[in-house]
This record gives sequence, structure tokens and C-alpha cells, in this order.
Amino acid sequence: MRLLLVVAGLLPALLLAKGFEAGVGRVDITPTKPIWLSGYASRTHESDGVLLPISAKALALSDGRSKVVIVTMDLVGFSQEFADVVTVRAMKAYDLPRASLMLNASHTHTGPVVGRNLLIMYNLTPVQEARIHEYTAGLEEKIVWVIGSALGQMRPVTIEFGQTEAGFAMNRRQPAASGFTNGANPKGPTDHTVPVFEVKGADGKPMAVLFGYACHNTTLTGQIYEISGDYAGFAQKEVEDAHPGAIAMFMQLCGADQNPLPRGTVELARKYGHELGGQVNAVLADSTRRKKVAPKLKAVFRQTELTFAHRSRQDYEKELASNDSTARKRAKAMLANWDDKLVRRLPYPVQAIRFGNGPVLLALGGEVVVDYSLRAKREYPKTDLIVAGYSNVVPCYIPSLRVLKEGGYEGGGAMLYYGQPGPFDETVEETIFSAIHKVMKDVK
Ligand SMILES: [Zn+2]
Repeated sequence: MRLLLVVAGLLPALLLAKGFEAGVGRVDITPTKPIWLSGYASRTHESDGVLLPISAKALALSDGRSKVVIVTMDLVGFSQEFADVVTVRAMKAYDLPRASLMLNASHTHTGPVVGRNLLIMYNLTPVQEARIHEYTAGLEEKIVWVIGSALGQMRPVTIEFGQTEAGFAMNRRQPAASGFTNGANPKGPTDHTVPVFEVKGADGKPMAVLFGYACHNTTLTGQIYEISGDYAGFAQKEVEDAHPGAIAMFMQLCGADQNPLPRGTVELARKYGHELGGQVNAVLADSTRRKKVAPKLKAVFRQTELTFAHRSRQDYEKELASNDSTARKRAKAMLANWDDKLVRRLPYPVQAIRFGNGPVLLALGGEVVVDYSLRAKREYPKTDLIVAGYSNVVPCYIPSLRVLKEGGYEGGGAMLYYGQPGPFDETVEETIFSAIHKVMKDVK
């Protein structure tokens, strides 16, 4: 009896003593045929080459009880439809709960259109649309495969975490007489933090490096037709070149209202990639800048609902006569789906992943403005918090109440290009923070 009690008392300690295991996977997702590139309405033809191949990468982690798989993709974004196909298939194939999967898009604007994401922004021929559908179907296969590939190669690792900064992101919401324009606002809020996770194998060398930054991946503008991962692609290459055998994974954080400035040339994309990758490499080179993460994992996932500001049938009927073809397409879709609740509400995912007693990765859907990162860090000053946007779905921009009230592109103007009904109502920030408070409590 006494022996049993002793053994029972040791059991939790033994479970805790078990270390992390990790596996990584990488798959090339560079389109093999010309394809429409996403993110800019101004482009006039499909891609005409490859500047830097693009990838999807998976990092699978286990503490012996819970598993988490983080997938980063050199893509502009992805719809709910795409996320559902990939997550449902992966959950079934690998017996994972939804909370264990996190998908993040780097928001590169020199990547292909995926599925119906931002599709109404472009006027494509049936052949061009067919190429996007063919690419998307292949991409779904590849993402499910890469998750399995990472899970199939688990081996003992240690994880360390550090943070640094990179300075090239600038707030882009420039106040003007007519409202806010897409320009430069050096006095506007930014978050220059670069979180860095190093996943080390038994040989002590990095096997995976996961890092993030809050800045639009838009150094390359609409005149550029070669495929690449923009500055994030060059940053990942910088880290991988310095650490042969390691996989470098970029997460887009709350960069919706941030631009790399100045921008517009390949040279600048390389320069920002060098700066960001160099900062990550400096953290990897100095063990005093990282702390060890205790081998414990917890992940929680909640779906909340955001509400759009009221618009009437008449508003869309008027829009049917607009000179803007995107506005006409949106109005037609809204009127055709008038009885669907998606005309009034948007499902919205909020996820939290805790590593040991240390960093918490908060993953939010959509193009999230930097105010969310800054407020979450203010509310949880004792936690090393990483706030990622562009996670699990990218259905539209997610303005704070401040940005919503100010208006402009991120405040509501961009809703048109996502085919959404219109701006959110004024509950948007509080609804999201209410879900954040719940996941932060549940992930403890
Ligand atoms: Zn964007």
C-alpha cells in the first residue's frame, strides 16, 4: 500500500519530467504554371516567373500528452472554406483536436490567389479561375500531407524562447483631409517585437526556428509578377542558410496597418529579409538571449461571432448600379444570400497555445491591426505574449474600435475586396477581447 502511494505520488513528476518531442515537415507550394497573384487589384496578367520558391512548413510538438501542430504558409491568406477542408481532414487523419492545429499565412502579395480568398477583387477569365481551383486543390493535399509528415518524425527536443526587434515596419494609416490613406504615419502605433522559438534536436543544433513580425508582407508592389515570399521569404532563407538542416518558419503577427517602408523593389525585400533574419540569427547565436521552455503544452480554441453594421437591401440594390465591378459583384452576392446569417455575422476563431509556464501564442483570424497586440500585451504584462493575426482563417481586416471609427481601408473600406457585407459594428474589439480573456483563462 505504501509503495503504491509512493508510486502514485511519483507519477505526475514522471509525466512532467518527460521532455518535448518535435517533428518538422516542409513542402514546396510554388505554382508550376502561370497563376494570378493575390493582394493587389491593379495587376493585369498572371505570374511570369519565380523569384524565390514558396513553402508550407509544419512544426509538430508534443509534451507526451498534448500535441500541437503549427503550419506556416507563404500565402496571402485563405478562406474559411479552405481552412475547414484542411483542418477537418487533418483532424480525422491524425486524430487531432481542433485546438491542436494552427495555420498562419505570411500575407505575401507575390503569392497565388487561393480558393475564393479575395477573388472578387479580380476580373479573371474562366481559364485563369480554373488554374486557381486546380492549384488550391493541390495545395489542400499538400498541407494535410505536411502536417502528417511532421507528426511522423517526432524525436526528443528542447525548446528555447527569446525576443528581439526589427525596425522596418511603419504604421501606414496616414491622416489626410479626406480621412486615412495608405501612406506613412511615423507617429502611429507599431509593435516591432520579433519572437523567436528555437527547437533543438539531441545534437544541440536548431531543427526548427519559429519567428514572427507584425508587418504587411508587401515590399513588392503590384508591378512585380514573380512569385516569392517577399521579405518573410528572404528572412526565412537567411535563417536557413545560417543553420543548415533547420527549417525556418515565419508567422505574420498583427501587421494589418503596418507596411515595410520604403517599398517597391526586390532589393528592399532582400534588405528587410536580411534585417529580420539577421535579428533572429543573433538571438540564436547568444544563449543569454533565450530561456528554456518547460516541456508542457496546452492549446485552446474558441469560435466567437463578429457582427457587421446594419445595411439594408436598398443599400445593396443601389450598389448594383455602381461603376465599380467589385461593388456590383458584392451587392449581387449579398442580395442572393439575404436570408443567410453570414450577411450579418462572421464566425471568428481565437486560439491560445501555452508553452511550459512561459510564452503564450495567441492566434487571431484575419488581418488584425496592431492595436490588438499592444492591448493584449498591456492586459497580460507578466506573460511573454505573441499575438499572431492571419491565423486559422483570413476573412477580412479586423479593425480595433479606434480604427473602425477612423475609417479608411483597414477600418472598413477593404471589406469590399473580401466580399464581406460592409464594416463591422462597434462591438468588434470587445467581442474579440472577451474571447481572448476566455482562452487566456482556459490555457492556464
Ligand atoms: Zn493586407
